[in-house]
Amino acid sequence: MILALLRQRRRRRLRARPFPKEWLTLIQRHVVFFPKLSASDRTELLGHIQVFLAEKRFEGCGGFAITDEVRVTIAAQACLLLLHRRTDYFPGLLTILVYPLTYMVEEKRQVGEHVWEEGTVSRLGETGRRMGSLVLAWGAVKHGAADPSDGKNVVLHEFAHQLDFENHAADGVPGLATREEQLAWSEVMRTEFASLRTAYETGIPTLLDTYGASNPAEFFAVSVEAFFERPFALRARHPKLYAELRNYFQQDPVGFSAERRDQ
Ligand SMILES: [Zn+2]
Repeated sequence: MILALLRQRRRRRLRARPFPKEWLTLIQRHVVFFPKLSASDRTELLGHIQVFLAEKRFEGCGGFAITDEVRVTIAAQACLLLLHRRTDYFPGLLTILVYPLTYMVEEKRQVGEHVWEEGTVSRLGETGRRMGSLVLAWGAVKHGAADPSDGKNVVLHEFAHQLDFENHAADGVPGLATREEQLAWSEVMRTEFASLRTAYETGIPTLLDTYGASNPAEFFAVSVEAFFERPFALRARHPKLYAELRNYFQQDPVGFSAERRDQ
């Protein structure tokens, strides 16, 4: 209790600190959605970035050197997910590991009921509920920040997983305030997940990345990418899904999206 109060006070102080000019220049240069936010959202975002950067550790991997550009570009995108809500700043996450480009991992993949395939696959990012860390490839992070409307954003994707973990399960359900909200969420997600699976199996083109058909946790993460990157298309084609995400995030990205309306 006391610790929580002290933490709140420390975070308030961090948010109120003047934002370093060099960091602001980097954000303006690399994070395309930033100037499109309202003035009050920009202020709120900069405050969150101060807390985020004070609390999270960054580590370069594969010879990669962490710079302020790396730190603020990641923080700005991650903190977009925190606006307008009470937040504990991704409490399960301590360290962000950054590789220069894609990185390779050994993976066992189930391809049939009793058949597992083993091999090396390349990844752009990953995180896990008990990892305490999140891995990103800088090349993909930079691309995501520079093109805010191609529907892909590895930072939003991986940090969406962190939000999913806040209620202690990787089940595609983030922390929602009321039982009614949870029920409404589950109902919509179940239907939308089932239709993405069907589309994937039958080869129908989809707005949502079919990687989301893997499981409900990935479905949530790719939905978050679409919500922020393709809000007009998502609202038109999946209005219920859009409404659930808008209610959870307390944001309406059509207001600041760079998405072209005719897409
Ligand atoms: Zn994922």
